[in-house]
Amino acid sequence: MVECSDPMIEAKGLSKFYGPFIATQEVTFAVPTGQIAAFLGPNGAGKSTTMKLLTGFLTPSEGEARIGGFNMAEDRLKASGLIGYLPENGPLYNEMTPKSLLKYLGQARGLSRGQLKERLDYVVKKCSLDDVWGKQIGKLSRGYRQRVGMAHALLHDPQVLILDEPTSGLDPNQTFQVRDLIRELGKTKTILLSTHSLSEVEAVCDRVILIDRGRIVLDGTVDQMKGDGGDMEAQFRKLTSSK
Ligand code: ADP
Repeated sequence: MVECSDPMIEAKGLSKFYGPFIATQEVTFAVPTGQIAAFLGPNGAGKSTTMKLLTGFLTPSEGEARIGGFNMAEDRLKASGLIGYLPENGPLYNEMTPKSLLKYLGQARGLSRGQLKERLDYVVKKCSLDDVWGKQIGKLSRGYRQRVGMAHALLHDPQVLILDEPTSGLDPNQTFQVRDLIRELGKTKTILLSTHSLSEVEAVCDRVILIDRGRIVLDGTVDQMKGDGGDMEAQFRKLTSSK
């Protein structure tokens, strides 16, 4: 295990500009070890962009991303080694099967044969992939594709999970299972997850970070997100804008 400093996930003044368009502006927050933080905001607010900046999939125009104290720009291997990332659109390797993809990705991560077997057994069980283990990913339902993405994120037993809408497209039973898994993982890992489900925030998260038009507009507890009226949805509408 890599020695890490607290906080585990740190966005420090992260801005991303596409020409004159500002996708995120001076996004700053920190998630301490062991916390499950919800990342909320309307569509287009900058959640996925921020997650891509934190995971090193995008380079910031300004600011820095730190994972476990490692600067993503300077210590990329150490920082990214700590992260399991579920991107918004799940795995893109449609021709492969979950088995061949996860085996390949585990080998690319440098897992030994023994570790790989142990981790594959773990993710197949935790992500309920038995039934589709040998089927083409491109032919799987959205729910299964999402679970292949989760399995990929968990494969190297990372300390940090960055999950972009982990329950999007899942039916209520699958959603329940994934939330249960996230709660269990949250006992030992630091998690940032984006979601549109306010009930998910209540069910799973310790903390809420709300972004609107590229800027953080609230960073606090679930109770703070509910506001004086105790209504998270009303507070969401009050603090954010629709495009
Ligand atoms: P969210 O995940 O909150 O829905 P995104 O981070 O995907 O929002 O997008 C934030 C804004 O940045 C959106 O207005 C989106 O259209 C814009 N954006 C994202 N990627 C690009 C890109 N490659 N080029 C130009 N604009 C982009």
